[in-house]
Amino acid sequence: MSFATDGTGPFCGALSCTDGADVVIDHPKHGERLACNKCATGYVVIRRV
Ligand SMILES: [Zn+2]
Repeated sequence: MSFATDGTGPFCGALSCTDGADVVIDHPKHGERLACNKCATGYVVIRRV
């Protein structure tokens, strides 16, 4: 929500992943987290970014 949308976008929050974030997922332990499409697999997607 607070991330700027211009310039370089937000990045995936997964460890050792440097892809840009595509969606916000509802992580069971960490709550809302940014993730790329690849890392979002298996999680509930809250919204696209
Ligand atoms: Zn990722």
